[in-house]
Amino acid sequence: MAVKSEIQKQADGSVHASVVGKIDEHFDGKDILAAATDAKTVVLRLDGVRSISSLGVRALEGFMRELGAKQVFLDDISAAMANQFSMIPNLLANAQVRSAKLPFVCPSCGTEHLHSIPYHNGAGTTHAPECPSCKTKMEFDGFSEEYLPHKK
Ligand SMILES: [Zn+2]
Repeated sequence: MAVKSEIQKQADGSVHASVVGKIDEHFDGKDILAAATDAKTVVLRLDGVRSISSLGVRALEGFMRELGAKQVFLDDISAAMANQFSMIPNLLANAQVRSAKLPFVCPSCGTEHLHSIPYHNGAGTTHAPECPSCKTKMEFDGFSEEYLPHKK
């Protein structure tokens, strides 16, 4: 199976799930949807999604639609996910992204590091981490506008 998910029901009735792997046409998220039938809130952790194929985008769109009227939070979306949401904002349906785990690089020593930042325009600069090796402020590795929402 291309995608593995881990699902936990919390004491407050919400469902937390993490999705790991490549999202392609085989992704349906049925196990998550089944676990979330009675849940009002669903929290998805998506830093393990390495890539999304073009057919996977459709599959993901269907899954997000199935989640329907629930309150959906997305935590630590991976660069692959962030890139899709940036190109196709409608893909999010009514889900709210809380954070994105994106690549940073140290301008001084070249260390690369994935770091979780708030999902808003400019966070790639304002929330850049310190290099774990030399403490220099790291830089976003790429164009942040390809990963973060555009200014409204
Ligand atoms: Zn460094």
